Amino acid sequence: MSDCLFCKIINGEIPSQKVYEDDKVYAFNDIDPQAPVHFLVVPKQHISSALEINDSNSAIVGHVFAVVANLAKEMGFADKGYRIVNNCGEDGGQTVGHLHFHVLAGRNIGWPPG
Ligand code: 5GP
Ligand code: ZN
Repeated sequence: MSDCLFCKIINGEIPSQKVYEDDKVYAFNDIDPQAPVHFLVVPKQHISSALEINDSNSAIVGHVFAVVANLAKEMGFADKGYRIVNNCGEDGGQTVGHLHFHVLAGRNIGWPPG
């Protein structure tokens, strides 16, 4: 989608610090990190939000979680743990209209969220 920030990051129009890439997803460090490890995993296909997940595109969600589990082992935060966050819509705190999963690690993230 031409006017989407994360589509521009995926296609390299806007620079980012890449963490991982395959044919289905792109992962990059968040510009405003909330933990020692804070990156975003986004599907390369433009999906606006979790509200647009359906039976025909939902496989990407499982793939994201599998990618994150592998990255946790490779990057060294598997043992201490991590949090995957998806913000959906206004009350969910979503500010970029391209489905993305935050991965937070490196400190105790705390619960409940604010
Ligand atoms: P949301 O609030 O939609 O769940 O998360 C959007 C995230 O994207 C925020 O954590 C924000 O810091 C991050 N972000 C916004 N613009 C940019 C950018 O240009 N580059 C990077 N790397 N992250 C961004
Ligand atoms: Zn997009």
